Amino acid sequence: MPCNGLLVVLSAPSGTGKGTLVKLLREQDENIRLSVSATTREPRKGEIDGCDYFFKTVEEFERMIKNNELIEWVKYCDNYYGTPREFIDSSLCLGYDVLLEIDVEGAANIKKLFPESVLVFILPPSFDELKKRIVGRGTEKPEVIQMRLEQAKKELGYISIYDYVVVNDKIEDAVQKIRSIITAEKLKYNRNKDILAQIGMQTGGTF
Ligand code: 5GP
Repeated sequence: MPCNGLLVVLSAPSGTGKGTLVKLLREQDENIRLSVSATTREPRKGEIDGCDYFFKTVEEFERMIKNNELIEWVKYCDNYYGTPREFIDSSLCLGYDVLLEIDVEGAANIKKLFPESVLVFILPPSFDELKKRIVGRGTEKPEVIQMRLEQAKKELGYISIYDYVVVNDKIEDAVQKIRSIITAEKLKYNRNKDILAQIGMQTGGTF
């Protein structure tokens, strides 16, 4: 079976509105599947185990690492985060496009493992807006907010490894831009080398 799904990595500093973006993308395109990561961070209010994350203890997470169940993993603001392998492999083989919502280090690792993957960096309209969103969320303690803001600045340093940048100013515009990226990527010749055969033509043949 051809494994022809597209692997799309979305990275965005905490508070960029990535969660809403992903929700809308999934609602608008049923060929998109979201990879649910494992983490040792505490669930936020309203987060559901198995849906937002697989919430794990440190011991459970370290066991997953040992058993090679994760494609990549990182430590981010003192917690483990990692991408389960099985879901990615099977979804791509079934032709689904898979979204990974992961940090910059994870994105760099994915690009090495899957050179065909597409990396998209989501930016807030401004740093002030980012601060407002993180503080306004009201889910983190002041020291964690500070750590996340510092982390956001650090993450910007990785922007050049990404294939695309999208500013999340108006959410619907950002969704359309990401959908356009997916459409264009799937039309690349490199992903469609058998196109002539598919339409019953070949180069150099007579008509
Ligand atoms: P949050 O705690 O705000 O949900 O996520 C913190 C950061 O961890 C975000 O940048 C998010 O994209 C990243 N993250 C979530 N899951 C994974 C994962 O499986 N791997 C990596 N490398 N980063 C992840």
